[in-house]
Amino acid sequence: MKIIGTVSELKKELSGLTNIGFVPTMGALHNGHLALVKKAISENKLTVVSIFVNPTQFNDPKDLEKYPRPLEADCRLLEDAGTDIVFAPSVSEMYPEPDNRVFDFGNLSNVMEGQFRPGHFNGVGQIVSRLFDIVRPKRAYFGEKDFQQLAIVRELNRQLGFDIEIIGCPIVREADGLAMSSRNARLNTELRKAAPAIYKALSESKAAQKTSSVNETINSVIEKINKEEGLEVEYFEIVDGNTLQTIKEWEETNYPVGCIAVFAGETRLIDNITYDKY
Ligand code: AMP
Repeated sequence: MKIIGTVSELKKELSGLTNIGFVPTMGALHNGHLALVKKAISENKLTVVSIFVNPTQFNDPKDLEKYPRPLEADCRLLEDAGTDIVFAPSVSEMYPEPDNRVFDFGNLSNVMEGQFRPGHFNGVGQIVSRLFDIVRPKRAYFGEKDFQQLAIVRELNRQLGFDIEIIGCPIVREADGLAMSSRNARLNTELRKAAPAIYKALSESKAAQKTSSVNETINSVIEKINKEEGLEVEYFEIVDGNTLQTIKEWEETNYPVGCIAVFAGETRLIDNITYDKY
């Protein structure tokens, strides 16, 4: 496995190659990331994994500062998984000059994460487009855990004409249901114990879907989670999985998805669940 820190070296290494699989990450890797990496390895001739904590997508400077960066341990995991190349650039390597580009993702970016994390998806657009441009992969792998991000990346790929196959991968969870996240490591014992209530409430709401309206579903999920000590729902919305616009009745879409953001103490966790089509 090669560990590369500069754009020029990576470009040299990849020149002339086709059939590249690409997994962009911010590091602090867990089995959710590794599932993407393993899928990429199984479907491509060569797999590149990037590790870069992108400052332009953080709207909260404290969150950026606290973000874990265990590069050595990450590289060991990636090597064991069979990764060919790790691209781990510095901030100045990725942004030799400030990136002033402004993206327009339409209504996809006005809601949910876009509403509560202003500028976040513009930063995602900046880094993902830059990485796509450098790596020029055939396929790129993203987790459904970041459901809205996946929709934004598909739109970015379409708008900029990269023609990359964007592959969404299912959410990988801990045994107790908590969606794996690099931020879970920040939870203290009590919050870690409380956090599985998020997925529990989502799963129960799916089980009760047939006998509940969209509104009742939303209220019951929020109520159950907020009852847990230390947890507070920032938003929970049920949307059409393609347009990301909220629905009022199940019949309005054949792809209903519930997307949630919850503060566990100061740590912000996201998750989602796909409901049945009516
Ligand atoms: P991050 O390092 O958080 O930017 O995540 C890098 C990629 O891994 C993104 O495409 C995420 O959606 C994906 N990912 C993170 N956590 C999970 C998970 N629990 N299950 C599946 N994919 C995940």
